Amino acid sequence: MKTLGGVKGFHDIVPPESERFTALEHRLRDVLRSYNYDEIRVPVAERTELFARSLGETTDIVEKEMYTFDDRDGTSLTLRPEGTASVVRAAIDAGLAQRERVAKLYYMGPMFRRERPQKGRSRQFHQVGAELIGRDDPTADAETVTLFADCLAAAGVPSSRIVLNSLGDAECRPAYRAALAAYGETHRAELCENCRQRLTRNPLRLLDCKEEGCRRAMAGAPLVTDHLCPACRTHFDEVQALLRATGVAFEINPRLVRGLDYYVRTAFEAVASNLGAQNAVGGGGRYDGLVEALGGPPLAGIGFAVGVERLLLAADTAAPEARAEICVIPLSDAAAAPAFQLAHRLRAAGARCELEAAGRSVKSAMRRADKLGVHFALLIGDDELRERRATVRDMRQQRDHRCALALDTDGGAARALLASLAAAASGASDATKGATGV
Ligand code: AMP
Repeated sequence: MKTLGGVKGFHDIVPPESERFTALEHRLRDVLRSYNYDEIRVPVAERTELFARSLGETTDIVEKEMYTFDDRDGTSLTLRPEGTASVVRAAIDAGLAQRERVAKLYYMGPMFRRERPQKGRSRQFHQVGAELIGRDDPTADAETVTLFADCLAAAGVPSSRIVLNSLGDAECRPAYRAALAAYGETHRAELCENCRQRLTRNPLRLLDCKEEGCRRAMAGAPLVTDHLCPACRTHFDEVQALLRATGVAFEINPRLVRGLDYYVRTAFEAVASNLGAQNAVGGGGRYDGLVEALGGPPLAGIGFAVGVERLLLAADTAAPEARAEICVIPLSDAAAAPAFQLAHRLRAAGARCELEAAGRSVKSAMRRADKLGVHFALLIGDDELRERRATVRDMRQQRDHRCALALDTDGGAARALLASLAAAASGASDATKGATGV
């Protein structure tokens, strides 16, 4: 029968890709912990209103890309298209977002946007993100960008470029918006239909349009960096000075606007050089005002998210070695239970261990061990049962040793056996003899 297949734009992540995926998440987690962030896990569904209120009613995500459905009681729910809104909501609900307190939270998990699937763009994708709530000083921005850069380096894409901009704040942005709209109005005829609507609804997005005509028309548009109020200017200068002093490479792009409305002041993005059209590997910015807009205290905040799939595409790292080191093979039915116990002890002692079903011939068992790529096969046949010792076959050196079949329950002997196998694997032949003595 033909399989049903998955949903368009929703992908399975299968081995060995899943190993790359997990390894990257581990590396990012280590970096986030080194900056003293704690993990937060938030649900994949929220009330639709949360995203409409925070991301902005006129953003592409809210207008066109959300997976929204009515729950059975009529509540409108949405699968999260990004993490910040949920994390801020959760931080408020959990009492983590409070005055005189700083919350440093990271998250990882799937996000959902109904975009046109293409290389590097899917409808379910994964992000790792960090949110720093309760700090409005430029050091917090610089530290966040540094963390972002460290995450990219840990992902193996150090060559990605970080671009930085300041989007101004409630003080100076309205005037800039008006200047941009006025400029756009004089070029109305050259703009695409979408951008004509943006003229009144969301002029900042005029800078973001990919249409050639719009790009040409907007080439001479006023720049936000020429419209910053003194406070935003000073803040932005200080962020840059700190980053320069730390040696974090970045470029200023006064045309960088992020896709969401909640950003103020510092905004940043990273693009990888080897990805084609979908080349942004991550981005973020400051969102002072968002906590309050979602019902919390008037706290500042800044954060970013990186796309796991895109980082993996850009990094092009090989899957880490992920296979069993040891295969326990019972050669008869009588050996099944002792083999079962031996495997259990070895796993408890930390080995990645495969247990075969009983009843194979030695030849087919060896073929199987070969296929699994294990370093050691532990064979248990009638002779081994009689002598209470398993045969350890070193698959790489093609040598046999013996080890005790019944390993003690506290794991000491199992650990000793593993240690001697590891020593044997690294070529210390004396240690190999040790394995026989366990
Ligand atoms: P954004 O908040 O939209 O800038 O998203 C942050 C990062 O998530 C992007 O830089 C991408 O790496 C990733 N991302 C966003 N949308 C998608 C998508 N549809 N498919 C894959 N990755 C995505």
